[in-house]
Amino acid sequence: MTQPALDLIIAALETIREKSDHAPRASRIVLARLQVARAAAARPLALRTAHAMPDDAVVSAVPSEDPGAPSNAELLAVVRDRVRACTKCAHLACSRTQTVFGVGNPDADLMFVGEAPGVDEDQQGEPFVGRAGQLLTRILKAMNFAREDVYIANILKCRPDTSPGTFGNRPPTPSEMQTCRPYLVEQIEIIQPIVLVALGAVAVEGLLGTRATMRELRGRWHSYNGIPLMITYHPAYLLRNQAPSEKRKVWEDMLQVLERLERPISERQRNYFL
Ligand code: SF4
Repeated sequence: MTQPALDLIIAALETIREKSDHAPRASRIVLARLQVARAAAARPLALRTAHAMPDDAVVSAVPSEDPGAPSNAELLAVVRDRVRACTKCAHLACSRTQTVFGVGNPDADLMFVGEAPGVDEDQQGEPFVGRAGQLLTRILKAMNFAREDVYIANILKCRPDTSPGTFGNRPPTPSEMQTCRPYLVEQIEIIQPIVLVALGAVAVEGLLGTRATMRELRGRWHSYNGIPLMITYHPAYLLRNQAPSEKRKVWEDMLQVLERLERPISERQRNYFL
């Protein structure tokens, strides 16, 4: 894209961002990336004029990546700071111990999306650290991934509050998910994983706005903004329902994910049961 075209797009998006509360929205991340692209578009032109080098020499003189471009880790840190200060859901901002942003590789090929932090995650500030999280870690290990290789986030960044004296967690409401969803959208925009996995029907509702049973949703490919999306059971479901047939379904979904990522799959993995 040429620099004047990028200038026009950036100016239009900045106007939308400042003046409109309604769709279409211009996310900060898209603006940051376009500004980086504009800087990169200007560079080869300047090099050609200054040095009058042959075309192939110019190409090799232009760095393949803009050294000034923010890394995914830096872009995520900006969003993390906004989440940390967020009070859009006043009731959750009051009740949370801390926000739970996300964890893992900012450049991951594979990203998991769950629903909301539970009591353990609220205490530790990291998603999927309770019993369900430990099972997710085991699933990842069976796929030959460490937690640090993938990125894990939730639709909601604050633990849904519960009445004093009650035990356990509650699922997020549609309104809470709608309010918090833009942060997850930004995380996905930054990371741009090759494959997304949604864990459970609530995560699907938050991500796609689709309400359906897991029987209808899981085991086949969906799409989120052009990114292949696999839907499978939440690990907490597997803790409640220990039937081998249910565990095998999740593992078959993960085998599809490995195939989509073009990862080698051993015979042992193919025959594996969680
Ligand atoms: S749940 Fe999300 S939108 Fe609501 S207060 Fe927490 S960070 Fe903000």
